[in-house]
Amino acid sequence: DVNRNTPLFSLPVELIHEVAGHLSPEAAICLTLTCRYSLDILRTSSWAEPSIKKCRYISEGTGIEHRQVLLLLLERDTAELAYCPRCNTLHPSLKAPREHRQTKLTKSCLGQDAVIDYLSQGSSDGYSLVFPHIEKALKSYPEDDVVPEILGPPIELLAGRFTIQHDRISYTLASSARRVGRNIIINHEHILRATTSKSRLRASDVLSLPLRLCPHQTTATSPPPPSRYTPPLRLNGPLLTHAIVAALPVTSKAGVLESNTFRVPTPLEREQMTAADAGGDVLWRCRNCPTKFRVQYRNTDGPSSDNGELIITTWHCFGHDMYTAQKYWKMLVRREGGLLGRSTRNSEFWSSPVRSIPDF
Ligand SMILES: [Zn+2]
Ligand SMILES: [Zn+2]
Repeated sequence: DVNRNTPLFSLPVELIHEVAGHLSPEAAICLTLTCRYSLDILRTSSWAEPSIKKCRYISEGTGIEHRQVLLLLLERDTAELAYCPRCNTLHPSLKAPREHRQTKLTKSCLGQDAVIDYLSQGSSDGYSLVFPHIEKALKSYPEDDVVPEILGPPIELLAGRFTIQHDRISYTLASSARRVGRNIIINHEHILRATTSKSRLRASDVLSLPLRLCPHQTTATSPPPPSRYTPPLRLNGPLLTHAIVAALPVTSKAGVLESNTFRVPTPLEREQMTAADAGGDVLWRCRNCPTKFRVQYRNTDGPSSDNGELIITTWHCFGHDMYTAQKYWKMLVRREGGLLGRSTRNSEFWSSPVRSIPDF
């Protein structure tokens, strides 16, 4: 061991112990980590210090949190671990939404509702967004670098693409993000095709997936979970289902659900639905969160063929600074469950009615 030739480790073992005894807990541990010889003679007793082992421990005399100091020192030497102030420990560092998966650990760390995971997920592929992703994007792509009204550079962290094969439908989710004007906008393209080139894309197959764009826009028709706080029978809104059916060719529409499966549309929703029925290219808006979407059908083998794909393009606004980002995040996370009170729920059944949704 070359370290034995250094002035410190050339000293008699008793003296090295004496030196280590004067070090702060984190420095004593770091000394044991310098080489095998050091660990051999000093052993691991310094790791057992209460100021290191206990998650929250502030030294009485100095007010120093030695555990935190140690973790920050360790973090400097490893690329795979990141310090988490909330848990006061080291976690595997945050992966991009295309790779991030919710685990027990991330759940306790980020809180119950800190993940947007309602987009379709495959067994290995998916797109799972947590607030620290947005925080990171806000920091890495500062507002000042973007000229208003002009597109910022693509935010690589938030990009992704994967395909899921369903029985009759092949579903692809392509994601990208950038600052548009001031705001961070995530753009998803939900692309749906029939699995084989001989079969036709059918509305009933698309609607029964079901699809979900935001906490409120979904084609799902299942009822909310039973709740002691709210009266039964709340219905989903009609917007997304109407948008999809309006965009598909007539030949695809057989077997579509009756309209009484949904609640009555609001006047603004009715306006958009009427425009779509008249053949307009509608930019749909969710009334409960900063989400806009467009539904288009494209013949892939020329205009006379039956072969086509449905493309649902969505834009979600995640704000331009921490304040707006936190505000919009709450609107974009889905919260639903029998034990939640009315005001904390945020889903196709419940959402707070008075909200100022930003235009973006
Ligand atoms: Zn944590
Ligand atoms: Zn919404």
